[in-house]
Amino acid sequence: MFRNFKMVDRLVYGRGCLAQLEGILEERRNSESGGMVFLMDDVFHGGPLPSRIPIRDGDRLLWVNVDQEPTTVTVDSLVETVQSAGPNPSAGVIGVGGGSVMDLAKAVSVMLTNPGSAADYQGWDLVENSSIYHVGVPTLSGTGAEVSRTAVLIGPVRKLGINSDYSVFDQIVLDPDLTATVTDEQRFYTGMDCYIHCVESLNGTYLNAFSRAYGEKAMDLCREVFLAERTPESEEKLMIASLYGGMSIAYSQVGVCHALSYGLSYVLGLHHGIGNCVVFDALEEFYPESVDEFRTMCDRHGVSLPRHLTSSLSEDQFNTMTRVALSMDPLWENALGPDWKSRMTEDRVRELYEAM
Ligand code: NAD
Ligand code: ZN
Repeated sequence: MFRNFKMVDRLVYGRGCLAQLEGILEERRNSESGGMVFLMDDVFHGGPLPSRIPIRDGDRLLWVNVDQEPTTVTVDSLVETVQSAGPNPSAGVIGVGGGSVMDLAKAVSVMLTNPGSAADYQGWDLVENSSIYHVGVPTLSGTGAEVSRTAVLIGPVRKLGINSDYSVFDQIVLDPDLTATVTDEQRFYTGMDCYIHCVESLNGTYLNAFSRAYGEKAMDLCREVFLAERTPESEEKLMIASLYGGMSIAYSQVGVCHALSYGLSYVLGLHHGIGNCVVFDALEEFYPESVDEFRTMCDRHGVSLPRHLTSSLSEDQFNTMTRVALSMDPLWENALGPDWKSRMTEDRVRELYEAM
């Protein structure tokens, strides 16, 4: 069976295209529904961006802080806040921010029409009811969250996405201008998430011509962005690299780095981009040439990765990291093939973590 995969319905791309959001939402507004719910990264609070967001009477703007990555508890409380406003269903959810805010917007749009807690839906295809209309407006490039069918959340037991066709955005607004304020360090870490998506897709056993086409182009763009001089086009390229990297893994899978990084960030609370970089640096055995190239990129951008992160972890913490990492069956299978369990034992995972 081949996956019949759900893609984002509509996409607008180009510098300044945020101005079109008003017209796009206009088509969705009607007298029966409630207003739009805007989830916005609080890094923009007090800056010029909020005044460019088409908020009308009856809409709600909810600021979200992403110092910690999104949790199922955050999603549940946002849903409660939205529902406490009245019985009318909201007309749509619009997420303005990096991967964290986009994932929150996806999860909230799913949970507004499905009972229980977001934690009940962490996994694959557990969502039964269609989500409400939702729009992603990325302000940071790299995760591919704008195009993926997952809303990654830290839950009570593990960090795992709500993987569902209903998570996929109905519309995305890709305006490279919105990334202008990202710090160089964050741009690098989230950009490397994209680079690593490409490496893991292109080296995986699930690879096919579809994933290869997107992955190779995204990889080329990452190289143009991170191995050449920075130009005004760099942010445009990085935004498309993110999209294409996401498309590549949508029809294949990520691999060793992401499996280990999920465990690491679950226990240490590390953000996805930096967590991936720490893990990737220890994966010469699996992706030798790419790890070399990655180190060149780190050098060019003056990035020195944190070291010895696991040196003082307890036995319990190691066990939790290992459990979370080894529960990512599809990632391991993509990376190492169907007999991955014989190669990736608990001891081997522990050794890899000890090197970080
Ligand atoms: P992020 O959204 O966590 O943001 C990182 C930092 O950058 C935050 O401090 C944020 O406030 C800031 N920021 C964002 N945009 C900015 C801007 N324009 N100017 C200044 N600061 C800005 O970072 P991320 O790397 O984009 O996303 C990481 C999250 O995405 C993790 O939770 C990860 O699990 C998730 N993720 C999801 C997918 C998916 O397919 N759904 C894929 C990869 C990662
Ligand atoms: Zn990633």
